[in-house]
Amino acid sequence: MDITQVATDTHETVLRIHDAALDLTGFIAVHSTRLGPAAGGLRMRPYGSEQEALTDVLRLSEGMTYKNAAAGLPLGGGKAVILGDAAQKTPQQLLAFARAIDTLQGRYWTAEDMGMSPQDMSLMAQETKFVAGLPHGPHASGDPSPVTARGIFNAIKTTARHRFGTPDLAGRRVAVQGLGHVGAHLCSLLHGAGAKLIVSDIDADRVAQAKTAFNAETASVAGIMTVQADIFAPCAIGAILNADTIAALNVAVVAGGANNQLATADDGARLHERGILYAPDFVANGGGIINVATEILAIDNQQDWVADKLVALDATLDRILTRAAQTDCSPDAIATSTVNDMLLAKAA
Ligand code: NAD
Repeated sequence: MDITQVATDTHETVLRIHDAALDLTGFIAVHSTRLGPAAGGLRMRPYGSEQEALTDVLRLSEGMTYKNAAAGLPLGGGKAVILGDAAQKTPQQLLAFARAIDTLQGRYWTAEDMGMSPQDMSLMAQETKFVAGLPHGPHASGDPSPVTARGIFNAIKTTARHRFGTPDLAGRRVAVQGLGHVGAHLCSLLHGAGAKLIVSDIDADRVAQAKTAFNAETASVAGIMTVQADIFAPCAIGAILNADTIAALNVAVVAGGANNQLATADDGARLHERGILYAPDFVANGGGIINVATEILAIDNQQDWVADKLVALDATLDRILTRAAQTDCSPDAIATSTVNDMLLAKAA
């Protein structure tokens, strides 16, 4: 296996992992360890090219620095990607990749992301201890999605309070894009709070299930981006908010769980200019990494610790939205500068 350094002036360390015999190519990116060891999941996807995979790991690892800091965790930002179809992955590939992670000696902790399962993490734990999201063990944290959804639910209520003057979701129309692990849990919480759901997914079975379970209206994959609602909760893919889609939105609030919802940094300002209140994704979806952190940090009273961190995360969002209103700035700009100040303070 070849492990080579990739030149970077934005990240602390970027490694390219290659083993021709195993048909394995991937990257590990450590964006920042200023607040603690870098933590972020391992993603496997059939990227179109190595450059596309590298761009993804650089972007995602930087995003983890912001997410972990906003969640008040003593963790930095990192991420790893493997090129390929996750359905075809082999144990040998995962074991080799785990050995590559181990060479960083704890500067990067991995966990499951797209294309990975808790069982894959168990296998990788044979080669490195710097892996979380295990299904069993003294501090195993299990599936983070319910905690992610709980954090997003809090963020939706807080953003609604800022926009509508009340966090009460009874009767509010909430459009949910993506009914996977996070979206399905979120729908259940929203339905329980009396919200009227409009749902969409590329998987027709998931749409049918949500329609029945939550008495939801349905929208097409494209239609969910323009549906009339109070709140739009993106819980599928990233980069869905751009100049065109923002111009067509028919909502007053965007608050959801998908990573990297803004296609570019300018799109936060575009939402603000349209009067749409945006809960920055790296704040709203921090519940999952809070749950994973209990494993990395070997927290004993996991439930209480997670509950406290979720309350603090919600208070952070509240402060960001308050400051955004006071300064007439986009919440994304305020959230980003808040985290940058934290990183600078740590460096001083
Ligand atoms: P998932 O793969 O379980 O679910 C994603 C769902 O989105 C699937 O049902 C898929 O069919 C659907 N989808 C894909 N493209 C779509 C489209 N164009 N329109 C509508 N639906 C579409 O993933 P997940 O774990 O639920 O994560 C959802 C999002 O939240 C991702 O962006 C992920 O990075 C982010 N996130 C997840 C967690 C977590 O704890 N799982 C934590 C933080 C952030």
